Amino acid sequence: MLATKEYEDIEKKVLQGERLSREDGIRLFHCHDLAWLGALADHVRQEKCGDIVYYNVNCHVNLTNICTSHCEFCAFGRDAGDKGAYAMTKEQAIGLVREALKDPDMGGLHVVSGLHPTWSFEQYLGILQALHEEFPQLYLKGFTGVEITHFAKISGLSVREVLEKLKAAGLKAIAGGGAEILSDRVRQELCPNKATAEEWLNVARTAHQLGIPTNASMLYGHIETLEERVDHLLKLRNLQDETHGFQTFICFPFLPKHTKLGQRIKQTSMWDDLRTMAIARLMLDNFRNIKAYWVMLTVPVAQVALGFGANDIDGTIHKENIMHDAGAESPRGLSEDTIIRIIKEAGRVPALCDCNFNIIRTID
Ligand code: SF4
Repeated sequence: MLATKEYEDIEKKVLQGERLSREDGIRLFHCHDLAWLGALADHVRQEKCGDIVYYNVNCHVNLTNICTSHCEFCAFGRDAGDKGAYAMTKEQAIGLVREALKDPDMGGLHVVSGLHPTWSFEQYLGILQALHEEFPQLYLKGFTGVEITHFAKISGLSVREVLEKLKAAGLKAIAGGGAEILSDRVRQELCPNKATAEEWLNVARTAHQLGIPTNASMLYGHIETLEERVDHLLKLRNLQDETHGFQTFICFPFLPKHTKLGQRIKQTSMWDDLRTMAIARLMLDNFRNIKAYWVMLTVPVAQVALGFGANDIDGTIHKENIMHDAGAESPRGLSEDTIIRIIKEAGRVPALCDCNFNIIRTID
């Protein structure tokens, strides 16, 4: 594959299916040969997943943007009474989904929200249950490790009990957000009011023990070091070794524009986005799926990322809010035809899947 002399040992390890070490991961972040890095990640993707690229037809439901956490990197959260603050009723949430259901391929909902200061766990649970009863055909993925930790704290229940109740109400999988960087140093500085790294991992571990799959993510490009990015990937890899419950890994480049960090932090470059995608594929050797989330990467970068290790491009989304409040310049939703075109142009085979990666149909 033509690695430079300096990286021949890593290339050899990858081609022999040997696990990369922390030191290897850090060295890869200092590699300037992006084309080689991409080719190596693409090789692993090809071996592991073939040419299929997953997408789904889904709808994001953000029940409220009122949030007690005030994370420094967030442009979505508001205080009650702020301009643009909202909290949906059950009926409004159902109305939003009903509108999205005009698309006959709609397969699932992605429900994530702020940590509302006065909502009880029962209120979140009640809306989830109502969505499930109204739309039993839709796959319900929702709530991050941060929200579930919050539910346990406000209800006095354990994380396990919260998850059991959510599962009984129709929840099928947990969303991957809220992991940010799994480092106490970073979290203490950027988001001290929400789940710690250990609490986030504990939700994922407990969910997997209960048979609830979860996603994993990494929000990068803010105050973290490259070593902390690698350590983050290793924490996910270790947990995956233990439980095998993560379905996909999503790279989220930080969008600083409308956040408190916007003055001092510049948005990641395409170069950084692509190397991070490739290194995630190489380090997370026990994850089958790596997602190029077009909302944050932008559609063109997500398309190129399909050649840097990604085999999943998320979904149509219908109407994205969280990242657009942070200044995302991508569209709020994509048509299925556009997603199919993007994947085909990259020389790959689009596969409409449900939110559990079961293929509904492939498009030739
Ligand atoms: S990132 Fe999530 S928890 Fe933090 S302020 Fe925003 S909505 Fe709230």
